[in-house]
Amino acid sequence: MTLAFLRPELNQLQAYSSHTASNPLPPEELDILDTNEFPLDFPPELKQKFVDYLFNAIPANRYPDGSHESLKQAITSYVNETLAQDSQALITPDNITLGCGSDELIRSILLATCGPGQGKILVADPTFSMYGILATGLGVETVKIPRHLDTFAININAAQQALETQPINVVFLVHPNSPTGNALTPAELAWVRTIPEQTLVVIDEAYFEFNGETLAGELSAHRNWLILRTFSKAFRLAAFRVGYGIGHPQLIEALEKLRLPYNITAPSLAAAQLVLAERETLLGEVPGLLAQRDQVFTALGQHSQLTLWASNANFIFFQTKPTELTQDLAQHLRQAGSLVRYTCGGIRLTIGTSAENQRVLSRIGAWCQQCV
Ligand SMILES: *Cc1c(COP(=O)(O)O)cnc(C)c1O
Repeated sequence: MTLAFLRPELNQLQAYSSHTASNPLPPEELDILDTNEFPLDFPPELKQKFVDYLFNAIPANRYPDGSHESLKQAITSYVNETLAQDSQALITPDNITLGCGSDELIRSILLATCGPGQGKILVADPTFSMYGILATGLGVETVKIPRHLDTFAININAAQQALETQPINVVFLVHPNSPTGNALTPAELAWVRTIPEQTLVVIDEAYFEFNGETLAGELSAHRNWLILRTFSKAFRLAAFRVGYGIGHPQLIEALEKLRLPYNITAPSLAAAQLVLAERETLLGEVPGLLAQRDQVFTALGQHSQLTLWASNANFIFFQTKPTELTQDLAQHLRQAGSLVRYTCGGIRLTIGTSAENQRVLSRIGAWCQQCV
């Protein structure tokens, strides 16, 4: 049955479903390696501190701070700390907007720039699926251009041609890209700097804390750039849904007009403040995770049945040879209890704890052995 009052675009979409929904194993037997979160919860003292704060300082009957003022201030300090000591490049709270996850910001960006039949977005496939999904839901067309399959660098000629021949209002780039893990190369960056001011360039730095490279220092030279960040990955706050955008104050003002008045709950605001205050401790564990990633990469590289790509983030993208077996391997791993993501013809494996990594490596090893 079709409901006549619904927009036809919705027929192309499915509601987002999370990984655990379809697995027969009990949740405690599953290693969650498919959603790119950091594998550890807060240290217990920190969690207790947070719970005490909720109990003592957050009145449940009051609306949260709808202006996000003090969190914007804290984010400003954090971002400026990561920029070269160039006062031209430093940002202020007027450069920041907050979303209920960066997913909300992606939707606000689309609402601010495109409409049904009005403007298109450009993405380089494979990439983060949310841009296309949210665009489809709003009746906005997504133009997809390819990447070079050996490195997953963007096909710049194709991108440039699309910009010159189609009404592209927004280009979405991920730095480093998901699901493939590659950061923007100098050649790609040189092209990004040439994109004319009538096109918004969104640079999604969801994995910034893992590769340490940001384009935030160049924002003052590019009024048409918006950087997206999230607390869901290295900062361990996926449960709380907080993301932010950094850009020109006029663009930020437009996005602020479109967000819901109290889009970030009081516990989420407090959690983001807490992780920023404790960033030395929390981000201090990132190098250890990257060492784990390098070990997993080396171990996967031992299998002649796999093709893998170097990663600048907390996950690794790989395929089987022949590629037709990749989906079979993904399903085998999920059934064995290592949840991995099968997407864009490959497997995206999130780096977990040492024990989780060992388990998935031994499952992959066993699969490779029985398949020769
Ligand atoms: C995880 C991720 C996000 C973060 O989404 P949230 O809504 O903030 O949890 C955004 N962009 C990319 C590319 C991601 O991988």
